[in-house]
Formats: sequence, structure tokens, C-alpha cells
Amino acid sequence: MSTSEKKPRKIQKRKSKKNDNIDSQTRSSQTNQTKLTKKQQLIKQSLETRKHFEQLSLEWQEKLYETVSLGILRDSAKFILPHHYQEIIEERNASKMCGYPICSKPKQVIQGQYRISYHERKIYDISELKNYCSTICFASSKFFFTQLSDEPLYLRDLQNWKPVDVIPLGG
Ligand SMILES: [Zn+2]
Repeated sequence: MSTSEKKPRKIQKRKSKKNDNIDSQTRSSQTNQTKLTKKQQLIKQSLETRKHFEQLSLEWQEKLYETVSLGILRDSAKFILPHHYQEIIEERNASKMCGYPICSKPKQVIQGQYRISYHERKIYDISELKNYCSTICFASSKFFFTQLSDEPLYLRDLQNWKPVDVIPLGG
């Protein structure tokens, strides 16, 4: 949500700064009356396109705050970016739900950040494991996450999108 609103807000700020100056205020109100140049039109158009796609991402992101079907999770990969998915996990965890969007179980409660395996003589960071109901959901979620593209939506070829693989519940 925060990133989706950054761009337009910045531009508004710049405009209001200009308006502080009386001279430029009159000048800018004059330019507002004249037609936008080709370049301005293109900028406006691309901003609107971006806004449209950001809104689309947001809608898909919000869908996954609730528990969804495997098909919906698979489709969502087309419209979200890795950071959206991280926010989804956070949001689900805030409602005490397992981070994997197709799982309706509560996330597990584990004390501490590390687990010591005396058998393997290793220390594991379990801070991320806490966001899920089980190791299986943790691994399935990671697998989904690694397939998410960080390419902005407006650059994606949505018509020929290659679907991702989703691990069903229970591995
Ligand atoms: Zn789960």
C-alpha cells in the first residue's frame, strides 16, 4: 500500500511547493488552462497506467489476507510482487493465521529465535518458522515466494503469463 501511493504523492508535493511562490502560481494556472504537451500527456498516461496496475496488485494482495484456494494463490502470482507477498504473510500473522495463504490453521507458537539440534550439532534460526503452522507450510510458502517475479506489473506480459507451481496443503 505504501509503495503504491508514493509516486502520485511526490508529484503533488512538488506542485504545492511551486504554488507557495506567487509568481509561479499565476504562471502555473495559465499553463493549466493550455493543453498538455505530448510529453506531459505521455507522463500522465503512464502514471495512470501505473496507478491502475498498483490498484490491481493491491486487490490481489487483499484477497490473500483471507485463506484462499490453491487456484487463486496460483493466479495471484501474476499480479503481485515479492514485497506484496511479504506483506500478506505479515498481515495473516497479525491475525494469528498461518502465513501460507491456502492454509486456514493458526500459526504455531514457538519460544525463542533459535533451535539447537544436538543431533546435527547445528543452530537453526526459527524466526521465520513461527509465521506458519508447520515446517511444511513454511517450505511451501518459500517455494511460492521464490517464483514471484519482481518485474513491475505494467511491464509484464500478462497475456502470456507462465503459471507458477503451488504446493497443495500438507506438501
Ligand atoms: Zn499452515
